[in-house]
Amino acid sequence: MTTVKDALKEATQRLREADIQTPALDAELLLAHTLDADRTHIALHADRVLGRTQRTAYESLIARRLRGECVAYIVGRKAFRHIELLVNKDVLVPRPETEALVEAALETIDRAQTKAVSVLDLCCGSGAIALALLDERPGIKASAADLSEAALAVARANHARLFGAARPLSLIHSDLFDNIAARFHLIVSNPPYVPSATIPTLAREVQGEPRLALDGGPDGLSPIRKIIAAAPPRLLPNGRLLLEAAPSQIKEIIRLMEGSGYRDIACTKDLSGRERVIEGTIIEGGAPAPVPMSAPCGAGW
Ligand code: GLN
Repeated sequence: MTTVKDALKEATQRLREADIQTPALDAELLLAHTLDADRTHIALHADRVLGRTQRTAYESLIARRLRGECVAYIVGRKAFRHIELLVNKDVLVPRPETEALVEAALETIDRAQTKAVSVLDLCCGSGAIALALLDERPGIKASAADLSEAALAVARANHARLFGAARPLSLIHSDLFDNIAARFHLIVSNPPYVPSATIPTLAREVQGEPRLALDGGPDGLSPIRKIIAAAPPRLLPNGRLLLEAAPSQIKEIIRLMEGSGYRDIACTKDLSGRERVIEGTIIEGGAPAPVPMSAPCGAGW
């Protein structure tokens, strides 16, 4: 007979031996998923006996974790701020660092003169940033864009599940600003920023994530350079650009922003105390460049 407690103990031990960083937590999350319960339920029913089917199902999830797949992909979900997002291998798993970007965006939204702040989440992936902002500030006018159609499908599913028609999100298929005609009060982006040569050295779990969402070119700054240069005409007067980047890149990004006419440049630290978010204002961005005729996809206003 295997109880919940026994199963957790054994799985935790195996995960620890495989150098998984959070063995007990992962064992619990995977058991909760197997039993379609939450972690509290598991803690309260430690003596419950597992059936054969449940044991086999749990074993196969633990085997996937031991092969290096991350918990979020195995269970297909990830908590971010106050919402839960569906995730699959077409999108980056939302990170705690990115919660700092959301917090900085909330501050900008709250300082704005208008209630209907227009926000673009560029390189949106699962839609984490746009959806967390819609969740916490329902009055915003939200748009989200990504180069990957597969990622947009995930963002669309997340939006439908969380909000539906009640809080519209305009989803746009676009390589950075290529298909974006509108201007925004706020552009927020967690673009790919890992230097290409660094990717093979990252944790095994990260190797399973889409390269497109991570690879920022030789020094990691290729997309960020393009965004800083192209954002001004996409911003309304006094509009603000907020970017997530690696702490080591912040100095160079400040230089780039200064060179492109951004004002009030500021950095925010992430939960581990490292500079992670950088933002700046464009007082007057000039006329937007003409946009190609390809139509943006997705619903919304
Ligand atoms: N912070 C992520 C990582 O280190 C990178 C995210 C990104 O490139 N946008 O894995």
